[in-house]
Parts: sequence; structure tokens; C-alpha cells
Amino acid sequence: MFIALDDTDSTEGMCTTYLTCLILRKFKEINLIADIPNLVRLNPNIPYKTRGNGACWFHIDDNNLSGERKKEIKTIVLDLLKKYSRFEDENTNPACVFLDDENFKINFEILNKFYKKAVSELCTIEEADEISGKINATAYKFKNGRGIVGCLACLGCDFSDLTYELLIYRTEENFGKERMIDEESVFEMHKLLYPGTYDNVNEEEHKLVFMPHGKDPILCGIRGNSIEVVNKAFSLIKFNEEISFTRIFRTNQHTDAHLMFKKISELKQYDAAIVAGTVIENPKRIAKGHTFFKISDGTATFTCAAYGVTRLKNIAFNLVKGDKVRLYGGIESHKDTFNIEKIEILELAKIYKKENPVCPNCKIRMKSEGTNKGFQCKNCKLRLKNDAVKFIEVPRNLKQEIYEVEPGHRRHLSKQLCRYKI
Ligand SMILES: [Zn+2]
Repeated sequence: MFIALDDTDSTEGMCTTYLTCLILRKFKEINLIADIPNLVRLNPNIPYKTRGNGACWFHIDDNNLSGERKKEIKTIVLDLLKKYSRFEDENTNPACVFLDDENFKINFEILNKFYKKAVSELCTIEEADEISGKINATAYKFKNGRGIVGCLACLGCDFSDLTYELLIYRTEENFGKERMIDEESVFEMHKLLYPGTYDNVNEEEHKLVFMPHGKDPILCGIRGNSIEVVNKAFSLIKFNEEISFTRIFRTNQHTDAHLMFKKISELKQYDAAIVAGTVIENPKRIAKGHTFFKISDGTATFTCAAYGVTRLKNIAFNLVKGDKVRLYGGIESHKDTFNIEKIEILELAKIYKKENPVCPNCKIRMKSEGTNKGFQCKNCKLRLKNDAVKFIEVPRNLKQEIYEVEPGHRRHLSKQLCRYKI
């Protein structure tokens, strides 16, 4: 039996992974052992998301489950979901879905197609309802039930690329208090295990970036390429507060699963995409360093933005008209702006600066006589025409490579450059 949960948390606390863990612990008490749970991130540009737009699912072998046992499972899941979901938040619209192994197997293609849409575009509750009926899922929706979109989409994740996250949960009395972790032990661990594990620290700013903020039950999350590496990392960190429990999730984080190659003319609001084009206007900078420029791929033009908190704004500001780039990102709140997660430089345009000619007699720099009026040597009074001007190529301070944001500013789904070789 497959069980999926979504949209139980709010910005004020809770986390769908926490609810998943509570359910799995309850299962264990009655000798029901589930496989490793899954945390599936969906389109980060969707406006309804609470924080990371993540849904969870886990699996229990159907084979020896009596009808009575299945009923017991549903009761546990629904009781805990009702107890812990943040119903008071207007953006929290929980749902859970139960699906038999057989139905999962024969309908995986339908689910996978829905996942691919939900990770990259906008899906409606109606679309999800239709699929739920088609595949004979048992769905429970609360309030407007938007969580059903994430429940069905997460079940369709194929994990063609995957990572793991070891989540460390706090005891309830610490919720909302400052997180107590020995900083240096995390830096030591990073030195030893990077790039097997990543996004734990921001070295430039010398700070930890693997903790969420605010009241949610997670102390921190260790992300990595294997179960072994996240376990090893956990064993190396010193925690200065009591840990309630830990759990490893299999996840589509850091795989770029959300990015689909698109032509600019195909972009719709909320899409996550990869587009390529030529810069058609030199970048402009506004307050806080937010940098905007326009690209065209022949099908349409689009305004692209690199916001002030990341180093990408400086990369973007150094682009010039004529540069060819590939941009990874999406369209969030402003339907006419593409927010950049990564910039790949495909080709750099040559840029030149004008230089006055040197007098052939005196070997000194000649003076301009004014726009288009030629040059004169102040020493021997020799005159040269305007076409004597020299064009000197200016070196570019960008390279033909991919530039990414620094740790701590990355979206959950964004693939780090250190994972590209895998
Ligand atoms: Zn001269």
C-alpha cells in the first residue's frame, strides 16, 4: 500500500516530513515496517506552496495485510493528520492518498506524467481529482483539498536521479527556540565529506545553512548522495540540544527535476524551465543589486532577473549585448520575469574600447579634435583622420561555464555544480 501526504504544514510550523515520521513511529509500535520514506519536491514557483512545496509518501507491503489491518493503517494516518495539520492557516489544505500496490503498478505511467507536470508547471485540484478517480485511489481532502495535487504527483516521481536527506528533529519544548549546534563540528564534517554531502555551510560567509528558520520541528537536514554519507556526517556533528529522533528520506532534491527545456515563446506563468538565447540589451541594476536583462531566442524575448541576495547578480551584471547564455530558473510572482537559478555562458561577445592613435613621429598619444574630427599631435601638430582610431579588445571577466548561487540560497530542487559529475 502506498500512502501519500501533502500540505499539512504552515509558515508557523509543522512539516509534512514530521507527520510522516510520527506515522511511521506509530506503525512500528504495531509491527508495521515501512520502506524508506520519500520527500518529493514539486514546482517551487507555485504560489500556494507553504515553504519548499514538498510532499511525502511511503510504502507498506500489501501482501499480508488483512482488510482489518488496512483499516487500522488508514485510521492511524487520518488521526495523526487531523491532529497535527495546521488547519488554521488559510494556505494549508491537507490531503492524503492511499493506493494499493496493484493499482500503483498498473497506473505508474499516469502518475509519472502528472508528476512531470506538477514538478515543472501549475496543476489544478480538478486535474488531480480526475486522476485519483481514474487510478482508483482513496483520497481524503480537507478544506479546499489542494494537497491532493502533491499527493498524486509525488507518487509519480521516478527518482531517475536522487539524493538523500537525513532530517534531525527537535524535542517539542525546543520548537521556536534558537537552534543549538556546534558550528565548528559542522565545518570539520564539511571539510571531510564534501561533495558527498553539500549545502551544510556557506564558507564565504562562514555560517551554517542547513537549518530551517522559525518554529518548525526540524533542527537541521543533512543532504547527500548516499545513505552512508549522510549517516557519517550526522555522526561527526556535535549537537548542543536534545534530539527527538532522526529519519532519512529519499528525495528528488538537487536533481534539477523541475527544469524542462523550453523555447521562450512557450513560457507560461509558474513554469520552471531552461531557456537559451542571446542577450539583447545590456543589464540594468536597481535597488539592492537586483539585475535585469533581456534575452531572445528568435521565438520571443523575455526579461530575466538575478536578485540581490546571491552572487548571480554580479554575473548577470557583467553580461553584455550579444552574449549567448543558457538560463536555469522559472517564473514566479511576476509573470513577465524569469528568475535565474543558474547562468551558463555559452559564448561571450567581444567588447572593444576606443583608443586614440599614437603619433608616428613623437610616439606620444594624440588628442581628439572632437567627435568625428580626427586627431592632432600636441607636439608636432600632425593631424590624422578619424579612422586612425584604435579598437582594443577588452578582456571579459566571465568564463564559458555555469555559475550557481551560493549554499543557503539554493532551491531544494536545484542541482549543485558539484553533483554534475555524478
Ligand atoms: Zn607628433
